[in-house]
Amino acid sequence: MQKIPQAIPNLNGDEAELLQACIESTFVSSVGPFVTEFEDRIAALSGVDQAAVVCSGTVALQMAFEGLGIGQNDLVMMPSLTFIATSNAISHARAQPWLVDVTAENWTIDLDLCRRLILIETEPNPAGQGRIHRVTGQVLRAIAPVMVMGASLDFAAVTALAREFDLRVVVDAAAAIGGQAQNDTALGATGVDAVCYSFNGNKTVTCGGGGAVAAADPDLIKRIKHLTTTGRVGGNYDHDVIAYNFRMTNVQAAIGVAQLRRLDSFLQAKAAHHAMYSDVAAEFADLAPFPEPAKGQSTYWFSGVYYKGDDMSVCDAFRAHMNEAGVDLRLFWKPIHLQTPYAACMKSDMPVCDDLWKRLFPLPCSTHLTEAEMTQVTTATRAFWSAQG
Ligand SMILES: *Cc1c(COP(=O)(O)O)cnc(C)c1O
Repeated sequence: MQKIPQAIPNLNGDEAELLQACIESTFVSSVGPFVTEFEDRIAALSGVDQAAVVCSGTVALQMAFEGLGIGQNDLVMMPSLTFIATSNAISHARAQPWLVDVTAENWTIDLDLCRRLILIETEPNPAGQGRIHRVTGQVLRAIAPVMVMGASLDFAAVTALAREFDLRVVVDAAAAIGGQAQNDTALGATGVDAVCYSFNGNKTVTCGGGGAVAAADPDLIKRIKHLTTTGRVGGNYDHDVIAYNFRMTNVQAAIGVAQLRRLDSFLQAKAAHHAMYSDVAAEFADLAPFPEPAKGQSTYWFSGVYYKGDDMSVCDAFRAHMNEAGVDLRLFWKPIHLQTPYAACMKSDMPVCDDLWKRLFPLPCSTHLTEAEMTQVTTATRAFWSAQG
């Protein structure tokens, strides 16, 4: 039996037509009208003038760090509850992550804890931007908060922290395209340095694979485009830095443009899933819905239920039950400090992360989930938790 998947692409719009246009026009590579249109749409959605599209969300983050001059001997503070791409991008930029716990209230980076750690462990950097770590001598240059499940952050608090300690802010908004900060502010207009998106197949908007950086500073976008386009200068084979071929193709962008035409309906479907699963959670004393952001809105990339009881063996039993009932349910992100490559990383205590990740149950949330599939998921969920007494 085919299980109901967690999140698969919804390609029932203009995708095929725009792909056909790529083939007929021969614009299948990294230059083309859809690349330009997609960049313009992402910039507009982010409240900035310019964006640079790239080949993945991981690369978008890496390019944001490198474009901001972050690299060797630098530290970037980030939450441990995220997809491994956040820490990989920091590592690819040759910097190192400094892992911080998240809050129990909304699962995003604990900014009070960040502030305490910065005050205790770092001092001003007389030689330039950021803060010097007293023990290692490394320079804390940036903070990279993650919009977990597409939920907004307290952007005012993030930028206040960044101002206090002279830090750059790179937002991992991988699954938060179309999201809004407090007072309906677009993500790129919040005072952060860069907003990075992913268009991987499981995200709300997909290009098959791809990513983008949106930034208020046009020079940063220019540097990123230079880095992703082999550092080429002029029309001949002249290159002024060791750079990358990290561009998005017109084929990927064609899918993205078609997807964005339906962004509103995708976001509505995601919000409806969140409301549906929150209603189910409300029926059982041991369950809670996924949290709402303290400030701003969520794009509800993933929603589901959260177990708040004491018997952790129930969690494995629930996963097994759902899979038997034809619903793909697995563990969500294992925190980064528990991952082999990052086990020795600088990190805070992790009481919230350590407990949280095994209690999260992301339920199916493809934007074209049918009524019958929703009923199958909610019926199986209710059946399990009713039987727990
Ligand atoms: C998907 C995702 C990424 C990375 O995106 P890719 O396009 O897969 O490289 C980064 N961070 C978070 C939080 C994500 O969910």
